[in-house]
Amino acid sequence: MPQPIYMDNQATTPMDPRVLEAMLPYFNEHFGNAASRNHPFGWTAEEAVDTARSQIAQAIGAKPKEIIFTSGATESDNLAIKGVAEFYKDKGNHVITCVTEHKAVLDSCKALERAGKAEVTYLPVDQYGMVSPDDVASAITDNTVLISIMAANNEIGTLHPVREIGRIAKDRGVLFHCDATQGVGKIPMDVGQDGIDLLSLSAHKLYGPKGCGALYVRARGPRVRLTPIIDGGGHERGMRSGTLNVPGIVGFGKACQLAVQELETEAAKLIGLRTRLHDGITGELEEVYLNGHPTQRLPGNLNLSFSYVEGESLLMGINKDVALSSGSACTSATLEPSYVLKALGVGEELAHTSIRFGLGRFNTEAEVDIVAKRIVEVVQRLRDLSPLYEMAKEGIDLKSVQWKTA
Ligand SMILES: *Cc1c(COP(=O)(O)O)cnc(C)c1O
Repeated sequence: MPQPIYMDNQATTPMDPRVLEAMLPYFNEHFGNAASRNHPFGWTAEEAVDTARSQIAQAIGAKPKEIIFTSGATESDNLAIKGVAEFYKDKGNHVITCVTEHKAVLDSCKALERAGKAEVTYLPVDQYGMVSPDDVASAITDNTVLISIMAANNEIGTLHPVREIGRIAKDRGVLFHCDATQGVGKIPMDVGQDGIDLLSLSAHKLYGPKGCGALYVRARGPRVRLTPIIDGGGHERGMRSGTLNVPGIVGFGKACQLAVQELETEAAKLIGLRTRLHDGITGELEEVYLNGHPTQRLPGNLNLSFSYVEGESLLMGINKDVALSSGSACTSATLEPSYVLKALGVGEELAHTSIRFGLGRFNTEAEVDIVAKRIVEVVQRLRDLSPLYEMAKEGIDLKSVQWKTA
């Protein structure tokens, strides 16, 4: 069976061959433990980790020692939120976040609430999924120790006004954590200019390996402290014990270096592909709605709702040809419509018809054309089978229909 076209790059990205090439020697030839100080095996591993640390730091305008390696952004989010709440508990116990954050952030906040360790404000978003800096400012109290707002949403691609939030956090003396897993390497990110104190990122969302992430922890102005969530040998300045995943880290570093080098050209290419896909679909189909912000969005993200079509049926109709996601990868196991779309005020019905197209580095115009054509065919076929669509076309106002219930 031929592989379908991969267009789910917000769930994960394929590894760049240049990343794999950089990693390979560190599986067998240079297998040392980066914490072994007494022999060349350890030194070689440590040197490779140092290089990667610099590459990752450079990608976000940080210093190498401010990068703490983790198993991925889920762990980084947990460490940032729980670590700050615990360490600063004598200063305050209030955390501010937003309803459309990734589950790694939301569930970390909920865990703190359940344990009686924090009070959390979940800020709403506007119709485009954007949080308002004014709302952030007015939510801050004398008790607030942390603001956690993501850079770019993984479902709808909306970019939050990170720099403005960073400025507010600085003015009020509150720490600012940013889950930038979808942002780093896709949009310019700079912890200095953006006023970010803690930043989560993950290798597998930027063409690196899975199971490898990092947390940036500001060292000066202010120096951020954390209570670790994993105890052990005191690696990573005591914030995250555990033997480092050297090949993964080498790949992570290389992936960051490439992503930043190619950021501008890649963003321009992806915006071109996204526009082509959008126009290819909406040129042929009526009643297709864009979810998320029209311009302030990730270059590679297109999230569309198709009236009168069930998202799952649409995916079933095309999943031999193209790999896409309905709503979010994390919620697609359930039939609940996405909590992110709900937060935007998208109606239950349209939320059920949403598809996320995640374009990435290796997608081509030819692939976009195939996907647009297939989507149009399948949506037309499903609509032809839909009595609701037929009624709507005949001009019957569906809201006025008296439905018979059994
Ligand atoms: C993928 C993702 C995560 C989780 O990252 P992992 O490395 O897979 O644990 C967290 N936040 C956002 C916004 C993501 O897109």
